[in-house]
Amino acid sequence: MTDVPKTHPRYLSLTLRDTIVAGVEQGITSVHGLIAHGRGEAFDYLIGEATQPFAIEAIHAAAAMLRLAEHPVISVNGNVAALAPDALIELGQVLSAPLEVNIFHTETGREQRIQEHLLHHGAPDVLMPTTEAQLSYIDSNRKFVHPEGIFKADVVFVPLEDGDRCEALRKMGKEVVTVDLNPLSRTAQQASITIVDNVVRALPLLCEEIREFNNLTAENTVTRYSNEAVLKKALEHISRCGNG
Ligand code: ATP
Ligand code: MG
Repeated sequence: MTDVPKTHPRYLSLTLRDTIVAGVEQGITSVHGLIAHGRGEAFDYLIGEATQPFAIEAIHAAAAMLRLAEHPVISVNGNVAALAPDALIELGQVLSAPLEVNIFHTETGREQRIQEHLLHHGAPDVLMPTTEAQLSYIDSNRKFVHPEGIFKADVVFVPLEDGDRCEALRKMGKEVVTVDLNPLSRTAQQASITIVDNVVRALPLLCEEIREFNNLTAENTVTRYSNEAVLKKALEHISRCGNG
C-alpha cells in the first residue's frame, strides 16, 4: 500500500485505488479491471462520492427483490472480489445465497484465485463456472455458469456488470440487480434495479436493509419501483453538480 496520509482530501478514493492495484498484484483482478475502476471513479466524483437518495431508493427495492427471490445468486468478478470480499460474504449469509465466480478475462488460474480469496475471507462455499450449464445469448467466457447457481437463479446480483451479460440474463427471464456508478452504461440501463453508488458503500447498506426487511411491504416496494425514474434522478443529480 502507498503511504496516503489520512488527512489527504482524496484519502478514501486513493485507498480504494491501492486496494484494486493489490487485487491485480494478487492475480484476482484483471489489469483491464483498472480501467473499469477508473471509469467508476470518474462517475463517483460526479455523484459526490456519497450515497445519494436515488441509490437509497434502489437499495430499498433491491433488498425486497432479493428477499422475495426463490433462488438468488451473487455473481463475483475480479474487481468486486478485491474491493469488498467481506461484504459479499455477508450478503450471501443474510440472503442464504451462493456466491459464484464469473469473469470476462480468464487469465490462467484467476477464477481459482478469486475462489480461494473468498474462502480465505470466510465464504462457506464458492460456486465456479462449468461447461455443463451455459447462458444463451452470449459468446464470451461469461456464458459458462454453475447449474445450481446463476443458471438456476431467478434473481442475480451482479455488481460492476458487463452490459452483454446483463442483457443475456434479462433475455433469459432473470431479474438483475446491479451496482454501477455509471447511470448511462448498458448494464445500468438494462438491469431490473440499478444502485448508482460505489460498491464499497452500497453493499453494507444493502445487507443492513435486508436484515430489516419487512415482508408485508416488499411486493409493493418492488412493483412500485421504476429503474428508469431512478436513473433519471441520478443523471439530474450529476447535471446539477456543475451548476453549484
Ligand atoms: P457496459 O458494458 O455496461 O456498457 P462499460 O463497458 O462502460 O459498461 P464495464 O467495464 O463493462 O463498463 O463495467 C464496469 C462498470 O462498473 C462501469 O460502468 C463502471 O462505472 C462501474 N464501476 C467501476 N468501479 C465501480 C465501483 N467501485 N462501484 C460501482 N461501480 C463501479
Ligand atoms: Mg462493458
